[in-house]
Amino acid sequence: MIELQEVDVAIAGGGPVGCALALALSGSAVSVARIAGEADFADRPIALSYGSRLILERLGAWSSVRSNPIQTIHVSQQGFGRTVMHCSDYGLPALGYVTAYSELVAQLAGRTAASAQSLKDWKSADNEIVLRLSRGEDEAGMRARLLVLADGGQNRRTRNVRDYRQQAIVAEVTAEHPRAGVAWERFTAEGPLALLPFEDRYALVWSVRPASAVELLGLSDSDFLARLREIFGGRLGGFTSVGPRSTFPLSLRYGKIVPAARVLAIGNAAQTLHPVAGQGLNLGLRDAWELAQMLLDAAKEEIGAPRFLARYARSRSLDRYAGIGLTDFLVRIFSNSLAPLALARGAGLAGLDAVPPARRFLARRMIFGARALP
Ligand SMILES: Cc1cc2nc3c(=O)[nH]c(=O)nc-3n(C[C@H](O)[C@H](O)[C@H](O)COP(=O)(O)OP(=O)(O)OC[C@H]3O[C@@H](n4cnc5c(N)ncnc54)[C@H](O)[C@@H]3O)c2cc1C
Repeated sequence: MIELQEVDVAIAGGGPVGCALALALSGSAVSVARIAGEADFADRPIALSYGSRLILERLGAWSSVRSNPIQTIHVSQQGFGRTVMHCSDYGLPALGYVTAYSELVAQLAGRTAASAQSLKDWKSADNEIVLRLSRGEDEAGMRARLLVLADGGQNRRTRNVRDYRQQAIVAEVTAEHPRAGVAWERFTAEGPLALLPFEDRYALVWSVRPASAVELLGLSDSDFLARLREIFGGRLGGFTSVGPRSTFPLSLRYGKIVPAARVLAIGNAAQTLHPVAGQGLNLGLRDAWELAQMLLDAAKEEIGAPRFLARYARSRSLDRYAGIGLTDFLVRIFSNSLAPLALARGAGLAGLDAVPPARRFLARRMIFGARALP
């Protein structure tokens, strides 16, 4: 009979969230196997909140991540209404940071061991879960007390889905008059457009309807930049260059935090959000951090037991639904051109600008998550 590897926690996923969980547990009494799959992702810049910086600092991974601070966030909609958030209003050195997904993953993954196998399926039993893993033609097995799904959830069919009928066009652009440390979020009738400061350029995440995405991808560089200027306005002067453009389909997908006995889902595997307001990874890092603290405090026999799973699901519920609710609300309320709604939104943004406590409430949720609130 073939002996199967036995661990306390098996983590499926080679992305930032699975890596963060493995790193938080490394060197502890909790034995871990990270099943990373084949590296297969489109690189993109990513905005981390100041709260995520604190988590990465505790993991010892922050100082090696090249990051570009966001000190100010300027939020507006086409037409009227805007608000501005500045880090000094919250006593922080930055509201967030922009880095590259690939660099973040490399820094986190380089600090923990992983296998390039993929999780194929599993079978839960009373006291353990047995995993089937594969790599090419080769198959292997593993026994664990708990399986943590941090695999992005792409192939899981049991999740609630809202298709936003938007595609994000992602590219790096340069501008005539860049403003250091300022990130821009502009709501348009087709979807939100973000420009994030990234070294001497901007990371553009531009959500549009699928037909517009096809058209924008087909434009020459100069026509694309002219269209961007038309939608964004002249705050940065004109746009002078654009790098390769890629697209991502956008939807909200979420399922159970406990999809099966002895299984937990975290990060995108638990909830995949629209990138508006840059919440997905930040929420996923908080999932990983809280789960790690609970595992470190648990007795071995508690790990993966029904009470442990229920306690984790309860503890993440508020933050998770706040993140799902905020992003879904923003996309649905802002992505249309109905005149009465546009007026109400403009008034809402102006109101937010005029009422610092309301702005502070929203900023703290975006930076630290819902559970950090008193
Ligand atoms: C255009 C765009 C812009 C975004 N911008 C931001 C932003 O600014 N800020 C922010 O916080 N979030 C942002 N997000 C969201 C963010 O990218 C995700 O929330 C984050 O990547 C989730 O990390 P994860 O580790 O949970 O999943 P993923 O990054 O999806 O990683 C999952 C990993 O698991 C691996 N895997 C898949 N199947 C298996 C298997 N069977 N076995 C083993 N491994 C497997 C995959 O290869 C992958 O490496 C953005 C998303 C998009 C699309």
